[in-house]
Formats: sequence, C-alpha cells, structure tokens
Amino acid sequence: MARAATASRSAALVERAEALFPGGVNSPVRAFRAVGRPPLALERGAGPYVWDVDGRRYADYIGAWGPAILGHAHPAVVDAVAGAARNGFALGATHPLEIELGEAIQRAMPSIERLRFTSSGTEAVMSVIRVARAATGRDLVVKFAGAYHGHSDGLLVEAGSGLATLAIAGSAGVPEAVAATAVVLPYNDPGAVTQAFAARPGQIAAVIVEPVVANAGVIAPAPGYLAHLREVTQAHGALLVFDEVITGFRLERGGAQARFGIRPDLTTLGKIIGGGMPIGAYGGRADLMDLVAPAGSVYQAGTLSGHPLSMAAGMSTLAELDQAKYASLEGSADALAAGLGEAAARAGRRVAVVRVGSLLTVFFRPTPPTDAAEALASDRAAYARFFGAMLDQGILLPPSQFEAWFVSMAHGPVEIEATLEAARRAFAA
Ligand code: PMP
Repeated sequence: MARAATASRSAALVERAEALFPGGVNSPVRAFRAVGRPPLALERGAGPYVWDVDGRRYADYIGAWGPAILGHAHPAVVDAVAGAARNGFALGATHPLEIELGEAIQRAMPSIERLRFTSSGTEAVMSVIRVARAATGRDLVVKFAGAYHGHSDGLLVEAGSGLATLAIAGSAGVPEAVAATAVVLPYNDPGAVTQAFAARPGQIAAVIVEPVVANAGVIAPAPGYLAHLREVTQAHGALLVFDEVITGFRLERGGAQARFGIRPDLTTLGKIIGGGMPIGAYGGRADLMDLVAPAGSVYQAGTLSGHPLSMAAGMSTLAELDQAKYASLEGSADALAAGLGEAAARAGRRVAVVRVGSLLTVFFRPTPPTDAAEALASDRAAYARFFGAMLDQGILLPPSQFEAWFVSMAHGPVEIEATLEAARRAFAA
C-alpha cells in the first residue's frame, strides 16, 4: 500500500498500458526496451520540450519521430488545425486544402508531377511498390539492409528502426513467398547493386532507398552512390524510388533529391508534410501515377486520405519552412554535433557523431558506419547507459542506438548548450 501511495502517475499509467497494449505500446520503439528503462507517458509538448504525466520536462530529440521540425504545438499549426476542425473533419470528398498541400509539395519537389495522399508512410510505400510492379510487370524489389520502409509485408526483411532495435531480421507472419520478392543488399555498395541486376535480368521492378539512411541510426550516402542507383535502374528499365518519409522537407524543402541532385521516378513522403497529424503521400512521374485508380488499374484508396486536419497541419508547417530557417536549423544541429564530438573526446570515449542536416546519431563505435552491418556493430549497452544518463538530466534521446535524433527549429542555443552540458557529464560518468 505504501508503495502505491508513493507511486508516480507515470508508473501507474505504464502498468495499465501494459495490461492493455502489446508490450504496453502502440508502436514498438516507444517501449524503451533497448535502453532498459520504463517507457515514458508524455502528455504535453511545446517548442523543443515535452512533459511527462508527472510534470517532468525534457528537451526532446525524438521529435515525434520526425514530424516535429517546428517543435511541438507551434502556434501557427495549432491555429490552422483548430480552424480546419470548425469546418468538420473528414468530409469524404475533395477538399481545397488537399490541393493546396499537394501543389506546395509539387513546387518543392519537381520530380513529383502527380501525387496521392495516404494516412501513413507505410501505406505510401506499399502503394508505390504496387505501382512500380504494375508499371514494369516485374515482381522483385531491391531494398537495403537496415532501411525501414514501414511495416508492409514485403519490406519487413532485414529492416531497420524497431526491427534493428529488437534484433529481429524479419517479422513472423510474412509469407515466405512475399519475403522472397525483396532483394536485400548492403547500403553504399554500388557493386552489389550492379551484380543484383546482372543476376536477375528483367526481374527487378524497383530499387527503394532511404537516400540518407535514418533508421539504422544516420548513415550518409557515399559520394556518387545515389547517382549510381539512378544509372543502374535506368539502364535496366527499373524504377528508382526515394523513400523520403524522413528526409522530405527535413534536409531542405526539396528533400534529399534536391540536396543530392538526383531525380527519382517515384517518391514517398510522410511525417513533416502532415505537421504531426497522420499522413503519407506517394508521387512522381505522371505516366506512372496515372496507373493509379481511378485513372488506371492499380487500386489504392483510403477513407481518411487527404484528411482536412492533416492537410491544415501540413500546409501551416510547410508555410513556416523557408531557406533562412533551414540554414539556422543546420547551424544548431552542427553546433550540437560538434559539441557532442568534443565532449566525447574530452572524456576519452570513442564515438562517431554522424550528422546529415538536422538528423544526427552518436554511434558508440569508433568510425561512422557506411552500412547497417557496421551500425549494428555499435556498443548498444554503452548507448543505453548514455541514454539513461541524459534522461536523468532532462534530455530525451531516441530510445535506441538505431534511431536518428531529430533537431527542430525550436531548439535554440539554450537547449543545445543544456544538452551539451548534460552530455559532458554523461560521457564522463
Ligand atoms: N519510411 C521511412 C523512411 C520511415 O522512417 C517510416 C517511419 N519511421 C516509414 C516509411 C513508415 O511510416 P509510418 O510510420 O507513417 O507508417
């Protein structure tokens, strides 16, 4: 009884959640299992901070797992969503906000000649693969080890994110015949891609890639690697799909395709384009997208697709994202990465701080990984200790070595310095 009387609200909620949801959560990485901590119950976010149900404040680098590029509860987004809500929620027909957001995306990413909205990134990827197969009449899809493209059957093979965190190579329940349609290759190995095509002439529909891997921790593409993917796919009549669910509007407005100057045939988006509301989108060449029903014979649909509240949140988020803000974001992330590197060095820790734009990972290994195998060889126990030491100082990092830190435009010098102060102590401990 005494224990119950002093127990925190967090602990009580976690206990109820564990009786209710598998593993206590509605998405596996929220369970904090890899870092050996009880999961947090968060009830509020504002700017760069989140608060748990016991009122503890954390500087937040999970960033809703990507969408929160403006920080939490940005006033312009809150107003836009509240305004849209007063007009009703889903109306089940084309809505002006869908067209506004779609056109804004099209302007930012010229490779997207037409697009369709879905309610999640998973759906967007699943649908884009269907389009690629229909367009080419081929079944195989090349994906890279450690990349995560959502939880559709065919892509849960050697995937990153929660699967890497839980150290499972694939999901139970995926038919072998479906898993066999994925050709899994190491990232950043151009020869492996060339060989895969040579060995399977006329069989590969598409190569799908996170142009910057963010789901095995952050792994940057080697110079020329993405261009190689573009050339090989073109040479073999296959399609190049950029999964920009994380990188779209994150690295810059035009995403990784703008940053690296590569035009994919098809692109998937999510997260930021919904400003924190449920969303996904896929788009690309008009001739390919016109295969989608009702224009064409590839069926894909969604009761809540193009939801007005998601469109309003997305539109108001994109409206805030200008050149100057991206430059400032890059500056904050760079200061954070440099400071983390210095703090680790001063404490004699051998870590590799990898940063691409505002995506960042502190790998507990001596050098930046070039592929998932190297990333997976990091010292997870050391990451877990670092995570715990940071959490205890009010800094919330992703609860896995294999997830990116998301720096937001709301993280200012005060938050960055507080994070570095905490990191100095954490590395020293
Ligand atoms: N693709 C990538 C690159 C992702 O990071 C994710 C989610 N983290 C997805 C697809 C799936 O998106 P969702 O969780 O919205 O289904």
